[in-house]
Amino acid sequence: MDIFEQWLNMSWEKNAKDRKNLMQEKRSACRCPACPSYNRCAREHNELLFCITGKSMLCISEDAGCTCRDCPVTPELGLRHHDFCMKGGEAAQRYEQEVH
Ligand code: SF4
Ligand code: SF4
Repeated sequence: MDIFEQWLNMSWEKNAKDRKNLMQEKRSACRCPACPSYNRCAREHNELLFCITGKSMLCISEDAGCTCRDCPVTPELGLRHHDFCMKGGEAAQRYEQEVH
């Protein structure tokens, strides 16, 4: 199991309150608001942490760059991918890579 898989397992073993706090902590560290692809719509809807929550629901579709590689969450969670708001979360991108 790599870092990301261990982190996912650890987060699911937590109770709802602790998991919410953990997600809040990661949302605070998320560097998406500094990214050129992050737009007003995403800001207004408080969209963050796409690496875990998956694609932007309605807001981000134009790729103007990605700052995920400069984000502290990337090494912390052992993320291999990026562009999560457009391509899907880490788990989804890993799955897609495996089946293709
Ligand atoms: S890796 Fe990207 S999507 Fe995940 S918290 Fe950091 S900036 Fe946000
Ligand atoms: S996931 Fe990457 S491309 Fe999308 S807003 Fe966050 S830093 Fe920018």
